[in-house]
Amino acid sequence: MIDHPSVRDNVPLAPLTTYKVGGAARVFAEPGDLAELREILSLTPPDTHIVVLGRGSNVVISEKGIDGLVIKLGRSFQAVSVGDDGDVTAGGGAALPKVARLAAAKGRGGLGFFVGIPGSVGGAVRMNAGGHGSDTATVMATATILDSTTRRMTRSTPRDLAMGYRSSNLTDTDIVVQATFVTTERDVDALEDEIREITRWRKENQPGGTLNAGSVFKNPDGDFAGAIIERVGLKGERFGPVAVSPVHANFLVAGDDATADDIFSFVEHIRAIVRDRTGIDLEPEIKFLGEFAGDREAS
Ligand SMILES: Cc1cc2nc3c(=O)[nH]c(=O)nc-3n(C[C@H](O)[C@H](O)[C@H](O)COP(=O)(O)OP(=O)(O)OC[C@H]3O[C@@H](n4cnc5c(N)ncnc54)[C@H](O)[C@@H]3O)c2cc1C
Repeated sequence: MIDHPSVRDNVPLAPLTTYKVGGAARVFAEPGDLAELREILSLTPPDTHIVVLGRGSNVVISEKGIDGLVIKLGRSFQAVSVGDDGDVTAGGGAALPKVARLAAAKGRGGLGFFVGIPGSVGGAVRMNAGGHGSDTATVMATATILDSTTRRMTRSTPRDLAMGYRSSNLTDTDIVVQATFVTTERDVDALEDEIREITRWRKENQPGGTLNAGSVFKNPDGDFAGAIIERVGLKGERFGPVAVSPVHANFLVAGDDATADDIFSFVEHIRAIVRDRTGIDLEPEIKFLGEFAGDREAS
């Protein structure tokens, strides 16, 4: 459909996500740099449904796959650098743990929390990823966004992007190609200790080494989704090949044989039970991409 060396048809997406479920992208592009990304977009027929995939750590891809163009930012978008002013600039595809470790090694503080989040910079901006008392909006100066329809680039602040709790006003047509983070000067040893402590905490409090996509639901005001799920007695419960983690009740862990539909059904089942017993409507934090039963064509 798109004649370009960085574009392929029918590419399985499951291996590109942490849940390892779901179908294929009808068209898949992995542009190596901004010029290639622009070229591919200029060859893309108007009205093509476009999805940007980061490191796939917050998504469930439909078993029917994605009927459109899936873009994964390639090589040059993984770069991370520290400027003379101490600001850290990273490509939209850069891994967050890499950003955290590089900043720490250069004595730049404030980005340590990224070490526990296995996503990309682009995914973090879109989701306003956060933890350990901080989030992306707090540390971000600007993000450079390419509009895939107009191919115009803008540089936006967290305020422009209305970044709130695990949310922003970015849509599927926006591609985060780069972001710059403000840091403070700190002692390298202290920063590396902080990174070790966050990593230790994660190992102790999250189901490491399993198939999951982090917290499934957003925390409602003044409460924790995991605590609510525990209160209604679902911690450790199974639903076919998917289980509520016995370590952290807001993580749903998938078995090797689980499908995207199994995860979707369990999420809806938990929401229904929580709604019935507490009146609280838990809002999913993870994104279901593509078609799901019950018409959750979400992104
Ligand atoms: C073990 C584990 C722990 C986690 N812990 C945390 C945590 O502590 N805090 C937290 O906030 N999250 C956490 N997460 C969730 C996830 O890592 C974050 O939401 C992360 O920011 C998602 O980034 P990603 O690159 O994987 O995005 P993806 O999952 O690939 O995509 C998520 C959304 O972002 C969009 N997107 C991705 N890249 C771009 C881009 N370049 N431009 C525009 N849009 C883009 C996608 O289209 C999609 O809508 C965790 C996940 C796991 C598996």
